[in-house]
Amino acid sequence: MTELPIDPTPGPAGEDDQPATAAHACQLLLDGNKWFVELGNRPESSPRRWHLIRLDAADIGISDDPNAAPAHEPFAAVLGCSDARVPAELVLGRAAGDLFMVRVAGNVPGTWSIGSIDFAVDSLSSLRLVAVIGHTSCQAIGASVDAFLSPASYLAVAAKLPLRAIVDSILPAVGCAAQALTQAHGQEIARHPGYRDALVELSVMLNCALTASVLRQTFAHKLGTTLDVVYGVYNLKSRIVGLPDGPDPTAWMPMLTQPPEDEAEVVALGRALATTGFITALLAA
Ligand SMILES: [Zn+2]
Repeated sequence: MTELPIDPTPGPAGEDDQPATAAHACQLLLDGNKWFVELGNRPESSPRRWHLIRLDAADIGISDDPNAAPAHEPFAAVLGCSDARVPAELVLGRAAGDLFMVRVAGNVPGTWSIGSIDFAVDSLSSLRLVAVIGHTSCQAIGASVDAFLSPASYLAVAAKLPLRAIVDSILPAVGCAAQALTQAHGQEIARHPGYRDALVELSVMLNCALTASVLRQTFAHKLGTTLDVVYGVYNLKSRIVGLPDGPDPTAWMPMLTQPPEDEAEVVALGRALATTGFITALLAA
């Protein structure tokens, strides 16, 4: 039996786990995601090999005191998709206890998801950030795009109220994305074979932005330097949380950014994202 070497790479959690500002909390999540991206890029990494990561007890939620429950002191609340490929603590390189997690298909804003975040904002004094994290190739967004493109398929969804609630929540982002693609590439673009894929990915981004916008309005009276609302999209291929950037189809800029403040900013964001290399490459396929 081959003995595996102990990886000297420290675990994802850093020393400074309780940021004082929203900007610092944001940076911790981006640093954690960078750690996760680099972990997968190491030459010894492959799906068939174990990768040993050094963690201490606190990283996996075990208290120093065996008779005490760990303190509940997350520094960020994350609204993410239920998709099994996007485990938030891993993707953001954070330890157990760092994130107040709400996961729902399509990371949509609803009564229960916003209610959960409302609890965190109101009751957890450690909280510095609310982050909406979507992901590429989201199947909840795909179902909404299909309902948008084919009204007949929406009738099947309409009879299933729980699923319909999710699809209905996403449809505004899909409509906005469709408008942005038309403005950027012309009316005929809807006939292109890559149109559905482009519409799904652009809808993912705008759904994140619109969801974050809802949260920003909901908690507006509490926001400032010690609490902010941001969003980003996890790219399933590169594993980077951010947004596409520039003409390179593979360029994904690491970022967590503030949502648009009004309708004009949503439209401008949609148009800008529709002309990135990532989206235009899907339309060229
Ligand atoms: Zn998803």
